[in-house]
Amino acid sequence: MSKLDILSYNLENLEEIILEMGESKFRAKQIFRWLHIDRVESFEEMTNISKDLRERLDEKFEIKTLEIHKRLISKIDGTRKYLFKLEDGQIIESVMMPYKHGNTVCVSSQAGCRMGCKFCASTLNGLDRNLTTSEILGQSYAIEKDMGERVSHIVLMGSGEPLDNFDNVMQFIRVISDDNGTNISKRNITLSTCGLVDGIKKLADLGFPVTLALSLHAADDETRKKIMPIANKYTIQEELDACWYLFEKTGRRVSFEYSLINGVNDSPEDAVKLGKLIGGKNVHINLIPMNPVDERELEQSTKQRIEAFCSAIEKYHINVTIRREMGRDINGACGQLRNRELKNEANGE
Ligand code: SAH
Repeated sequence: MSKLDILSYNLENLEEIILEMGESKFRAKQIFRWLHIDRVESFEEMTNISKDLRERLDEKFEIKTLEIHKRLISKIDGTRKYLFKLEDGQIIESVMMPYKHGNTVCVSSQAGCRMGCKFCASTLNGLDRNLTTSEILGQSYAIEKDMGERVSHIVLMGSGEPLDNFDNVMQFIRVISDDNGTNISKRNITLSTCGLVDGIKKLADLGFPVTLALSLHAADDETRKKIMPIANKYTIQEELDACWYLFEKTGRRVSFEYSLINGVNDSPEDAVKLGKLIGGKNVHINLIPMNPVDERELEQSTKQRIEAFCSAIEKYHINVTIRREMGRDINGACGQLRNRELKNEANGE
């Protein structure tokens, strides 16, 4: 029988298992601290646990860590891009951005993606598989170990659609935010979604005070359908209603992402539509200059058009920022590094 992946368990799960093993409940907290604060990679190192229990834990569980496959460090701003190789050979991508407010890690939630957004590199080859909780967690842990520094913020904005891997992503949030362990506040976690309305509602009902970022990218349904297949399933109005529902449940202000694509969604008329759609609401909009993807025809909007778009929506009293490009010298859109690596492997390079 294969061993259980202990880093995918939250403290409550662990307490149940420890009780079942005939041990006292408080042992679970000790073990959880060894795993998530001390970051031990073997049960042997858990010196306040009896030898007998350590051996029984070792028979039942394994402590999985991620192997760094490649690492690129920006000379401009210290941004780091990592590729990790998983047990089954899958390759996933993560990014670390050293912001003033703390080190922020952008983690992947799936190997590949099945959402099909036209501007995105992560979805080019479809979905390979969901990541386990410990594989999502392991990205941040491996980066902390590599840098010798702590991570304070997590953004679920790497490859994959987090709400399409709902249970493992929620479990990841529970584990990484537990104050008996890594203790990254849920308020320091941002989850970005292309707009799985049912998932947004489920997240709202859980009440986790994470920040939701909705990938809007268009101000009318016709335009959105051209670039995001999810728009065939849900209207923008349904997306917004789900966001307001979440705000009601969690009190957390929602963010919208709007990637500006030349001639597709960046005209003055688009800005007016967007202004009318969300003007006056307590939201934040992040304008992202689209990052061109080799395999796609779409182009980035010009700087002038981006600035004009930004000033036009500011008139509607919308809190807006233009996303700063990080790690320009090691850049490439989300998922591009992974795709290149997969291609190289296929060519035997
Ligand atoms: N599946 C999630 C996370 C995706 S990545 C989602 O759809 O939100 C985070 C953000 O980057 C999303 O808003 C996504 O639409 C956007 N994005 C993806 N590829 C991009 C590109 N080439 N240029 C600009 N933004 C991009």
